[in-house]
Amino acid sequence: MVLNRMRTFVSDFKDRATAKTGDLRHRQFIRTALRGYEAARDRRKDAFQSWQSARQAAAETKWEAINNLDKHLVALTAKLESRGTKVHWASTGDQARDIITQILRDKKARTIIKSKAMTSEEIHLNHALEHEGFTVVESDLGEFIVQLRHEAPYHIVFPSMHLQRGEIRELFQREIGDAPSDNPEDLTMVARRVMRQKYIQADIGFTGGNFAIAETGMISITENEGNSRLTSALPKTMVTLMGIEKVLPRFADLALFLPMLATAGAGQPMTCYNTMYSGPRQPGEPDGPEEWHVVLLDNRRTELLADAEQRDALHCIRCGACLNVCPIYRNVGGHTYGTTYSGPVGSVITPHLRGLQDWKHLSNASSLCGACTEACPVKIDLHHHLLQNRRNASASKPSLFERFAYKTFGCVANDPGLWALAKKIGWLSQPLQNVVKGSALDPAKAWTKTRDLPPMPRETFKDWWRNRK
Ligand code: SF4
Repeated sequence: MVLNRMRTFVSDFKDRATAKTGDLRHRQFIRTALRGYEAARDRRKDAFQSWQSARQAAAETKWEAINNLDKHLVALTAKLESRGTKVHWASTGDQARDIITQILRDKKARTIIKSKAMTSEEIHLNHALEHEGFTVVESDLGEFIVQLRHEAPYHIVFPSMHLQRGEIRELFQREIGDAPSDNPEDLTMVARRVMRQKYIQADIGFTGGNFAIAETGMISITENEGNSRLTSALPKTMVTLMGIEKVLPRFADLALFLPMLATAGAGQPMTCYNTMYSGPRQPGEPDGPEEWHVVLLDNRRTELLADAEQRDALHCIRCGACLNVCPIYRNVGGHTYGTTYSGPVGSVITPHLRGLQDWKHLSNASSLCGACTEACPVKIDLHHHLLQNRRNASASKPSLFERFAYKTFGCVANDPGLWALAKKIGWLSQPLQNVVKGSALDPAKAWTKTRDLPPMPRETFKDWWRNRK
């Protein structure tokens, strides 16, 4: 059963990756979409006195936050509760879904308006709520578009990055019956009209959270559309779901993290709307929800916390910078990963969050070029973590074939005589290799189908060294 599932995850990934890498239109489009990103990001970096020092400071702050997570979470909870927020703890995705469903039932809710929350994607919340008969509306424009297409977000920051405006126009025409042109402003106004109505009807506003401030008991949400503010301001009840790793120790830390997230994520100096939520509406306040529930999600994050080698993967602020620069992501695209978190960070954390055996293949979705590590604003050593995942995967349950292959390679590589013989056989069998290449007789068919075998030189380095004058 497990083996079958593992095969499915791996083969699904390979099939999708093969299709996407062969889709030149898709590759060209993603390249065009990301073309301006690096230039804008680098311009914004110059606004920091020293981007490298800022990265170091951010890494140290997150280190402090994650290594004292227990204390910070207790402080955060106490502050939130002191102003009337109801804090819930969810060990698993199932528990989080149950808690949220119960809140909705208690409030006799029917419609939920949501702002962007990758944690809700992680626990497949929309699907669960719709199954229970609730109506769920995504209010972030990109999320709204992919929701209409019944698709998962393509990118953790730009959910509908893979779509061209003509496709969005067709979608709106089909699903909403209104799409005057493919002009982005016109399309945005169509979505706006639909959403405004939903805001008025919604019983519950649902948000994620970018940072949770332990010192002051505040949740910080950063966004560009203002939809999160409306989500929290209009409905009477607000529900926030966030991973426990989002904690920052001090309010002052936001002075670094807000511009850093905007710079690394979208090449902006700051996102347009930055809001700190400290509790439900207090006596005398004119607006805000009457009731606020915060659900803190573990979902195997504490297992990653227990792993001293890779704990820093919890430093991630979900800026998406590592996706944007990753040559694999840029070729295979976001949906190929089949996970909520894609790209390098997804390949590192998914085996921890969803099981190494099923997701170990993601560690190989990397050229190990290190561009992700270089781009990461909080200095997560992403490409080394991918190597560590490969090591852990091969040490945990290697297949019979892998064990045979590693053992054989180990024997040959450790014996100079066998190594020389293998080289000779390789060189002599080159004509035969070229004949069977890609056919059913080719043992490396999966590899050679899309690649040429590099010809082996007649003279090896050793020969050259020996013969040199
Ligand atoms: S791993 Fe680093 S670069 Fe990637 S999303 Fe997280 S913070 Fe951003």
